Amino acid sequence: MKFTRLRILGFKSFVEPADFVIEKGLTAVVGPNGCGKSNLVEALRWVMGESSYKNMRASGMDDVIFSGSGNRPSRNTAEVTLFLDNADRTAPAAFNGEDELQVSRRIERQSGSTYRINGREARARDVQLLFADQSTGARSPSMVGQGRVSELIQAKPQARRALLEEAAGISGLHSRRHEAELR
Ligand code: ATP
Ligand code: MG
Repeated sequence: MKFTRLRILGFKSFVEPADFVIEKGLTAVVGPNGCGKSNLVEALRWVMGESSYKNMRASGMDDVIFSGSGNRPSRNTAEVTLFLDNADRTAPAAFNGEDELQVSRRIERQSGSTYRINGREARARDVQLLFADQSTGARSPSMVGQGRVSELIQAKPQARRALLEEAAGISGLHSRRHEAELR
């Protein structure tokens, strides 16, 4: 599957609906300091199932909701939707007949967040596994943050193995096995 569009509403500084078309090839996000480049990447990680608010530079999950600025009042909800092209038919079985997947996550103040895949309610786990099976995800090595490269060079063999497993697209299988063993 390929990412084709990212839609952000009320997430961090994105108070107005923002729609980013992800074209084939390389996409660069450029802009002055504080314009929201990191917020955009965080929106992408959040919709893929990031569960740690610290990883979102926040002091609580509700902090990802637009908190107001100047004369704009704060909002009570935030929603991010990631559109995926399923032309290669690699979506999970339940969605494999669909040409496109829309994965969305919505948060309401003090009520936590909910996920949907093509309008159907999904668990955080389903969304995280969907991306793990595509060799990506909120914590995946395919997301290379500042300082990550030297971290990877210094990583212990076990951690490096986890990277290779992720690149091979089998990390989702490992976490399913772990879940099955706990049952
Ligand atoms: P730099 O080039 O310095 O890395 P950047 O483009 O990555 O900047 P971000 O860190 O994405 O910028 O955006 C920072 C801005 O987002 C700040 O102005 C901050 O006030 C705003 N911001 C963060 N969280 C919220 C929120 N919940 N509500 C409103 N604004 C927010
Ligand atoms: Mg930044």
